[in-house]
Amino acid sequence: MAVSTVLAGARVVLPTGIVENGRVIVEGGRISGSTPEGTPSLDLAGHWVVPGFVDMHNHGGGGASFTSGTVDEVLHGVHTHRLHGTTTAVASFVTGDMDFLGRRAGLLSELAEQGEIAGIHFEGPFISPCRKGAHDEALLRDPDPAEVRKLIDAARGQAKMVTLATELPGGIDSVRLLAEHGVIAAIGHTDATYEQTVEAIDAGATVATHLYNAMPGLGHRTPGPIAALLEDERITVELINDGTHLHPAALELAFHHKGADRVAFITDAMDAAGFGDGMYDLGTLAVEVKDGVARLVEGGSIAGSTLTLDRAFKRAVTIDRLPVESVVRAISANPARLLGIDDRVGSLEPGKDADLVVLDENFDVKGVMRRGTWVVDPQVA
Ligand SMILES: [Zn+2]
Repeated sequence: MAVSTVLAGARVVLPTGIVENGRVIVEGGRISGSTPEGTPSLDLAGHWVVPGFVDMHNHGGGGASFTSGTVDEVLHGVHTHRLHGTTTAVASFVTGDMDFLGRRAGLLSELAEQGEIAGIHFEGPFISPCRKGAHDEALLRDPDPAEVRKLIDAARGQAKMVTLATELPGGIDSVRLLAEHGVIAAIGHTDATYEQTVEAIDAGATVATHLYNAMPGLGHRTPGPIAALLEDERITVELINDGTHLHPAALELAFHHKGADRVAFITDAMDAAGFGDGMYDLGTLAVEVKDGVARLVEGGSIAGSTLTLDRAFKRAVTIDRLPVESVVRAISANPARLLGIDDRVGSLEPGKDADLVVLDENFDVKGVMRRGTWVVDPQVA
C-alpha cells in the first residue's frame, strides 16, 4: 500500500458540511477518504482544513506580471499565490496589442498544459472606453467575433474566460461565439443598460467580472447591469473582497441575491500582491501601490488589487460574518465548477487532487498542500 498522510483532529469542511475532529487521508497526490482509518500522521486539533482556493481572475503577484513576465516570473507569481492558499489560478491578461496578447496566450498555454496555471483569461481589449479602469484606452476595440476567435485560437484550448462590454458592436455575437467554444463570456468593464445586460445573458454570458467595479451603479430608474447580473441565476458574480473595492453591504447584497453558489471570490491581483508597495507596470500603464492599494499614476483609477485569497477568506468570515461553508463555496467550489475542473479540484472529496489549506483558529494560513505535497508545511510554519 502506498504511503499515506492522515490529517486528523481538524474541523474539515466537506461539501456536505463541517466535520468536527475530521480526517483527510491523502494517497498518491489525491484524497483517498475522510473516514476514521489509519494512524494519524499529523494532528491538526484546533485547525480548519478547507479545499485549496481557486482564483479565476488573477494578473500576477510576488512582483511578477502574468501579462508581461517571463515564464520564470509567471511561475514565481503563481508560487506566491500558492503560499497564500491558491492552489489553482487562472492567468488574467490586461489589455494589450492583439499580436502581443496572441503571443502571450501561446506562451502561457504551455504552462496550462503542464498544470501550473488553470488557463487564460483575457480581460481586454473588448471593453468599454467609458469603463476602462486600468486598461490602456488606445488599445481597446469593439468585440469583433473574428478577433475574439483569434485570441481563443492562440490560447490553444486554454482560453477559459473573456471579459466583454457586451453592449459594444459585435458584443452579442462574440458572447455566442465564446459560449459555442466552451469559453466563459464574462460581462465587465461595461457601460451596458439593464436591457442590454439581459440580452447578453440570454446570448450565453455566465459571469460578471468583478461585480460593481467598472460598471454603472445601481439606480432606481436606471438599474443598469448590476440589477440584471444580481437577479439572473445563470450569472455567477466575481467579488474582490479586499475592503477597498467593495463596501461590506455591497458584498452582503450580492450574497443575499445570488446565494452562496453563485458568487466567486477573486483577487484581480496585480504584481504587488504578496510583494509590497512601490512602482509597477500594469500592461502599458504605470501604477503606484501605496498602503496596499494599487492606483494608476495617471488619473488615479484603482488598478487591480494586492489581495491574496487567504485575506479574502479571513475577511469574509471575521468581518463580513459569512458562514465558513459559504466562503468555501465562493472561494473554491464555485470557480472550479465554472472552469469545468470540479472533477479534480474545488472540494475535499475522494479521488480529487489533494489540494487543501490548513487555517488556524484566526483563519490565518498554517499549511498549504497541492497535489499531495506541502507548499507550506504546517509542521514548519
Ligand atoms: Zn482584472
